[in-house]
Amino acid sequence: MNGKGCGGRDASRNDGAAKVGGLSAAEFASLDELAVKLSAIDAAFAAPLEAIGRALGSRIATQHGRQPLAFDDALPDLFLACGFQDMIQWRFLDQRPDGARLLISGCADALGWDIPQVGRAVCGFDAALMEGFLRGITGIASWTVKELACLGLGNTACEFVIRSGHGDPDGAL
Ligand SMILES: [Zn+2]
Repeated sequence: MNGKGCGGRDASRNDGAAKVGGLSAAEFASLDELAVKLSAIDAAFAAPLEAIGRALGSRIATQHGRQPLAFDDALPDLFLACGFQDMIQWRFLDQRPDGARLLISGCADALGWDIPQVGRAVCGFDAALMEGFLRGITGIASWTVKELACLGLGNTACEFVIRSGHGDPDGAL
């Protein structure tokens, strides 16, 4: 896959356009994997990783070029941009105009290692990535994404609650 260690730079540099918020697809995949690993190692990594995820999601929205998008259309576009569609399975539960529950599975297979049960959710980077992207792409700043169930908690899949604080996705900012 991606270049490892100090010698990995040339490999990633040639890995296509920097399309994922300024990162190549391989760089993004490495970052996403590292974010899960760091979150599992120590809860102290959670806040800075969420800040990075939110900023990166915002950048991906800016680069998207089709704004504003409705919520229904937005997340599939994000997953496509991030290359998730070939790696994980996802589906909406309880989808409404102002939010949804999102179930994601297959992460351990995509990572190639088992996410350890550490008693806390470890996908805060991804939650914040979705949050930053939704805020940017919909033009509604009140979107929040929280992870309820997670492999890190011992659940069989990860589940995110996605909400617009306004309760009105068509409302202006
Ligand atoms: Zn998770």
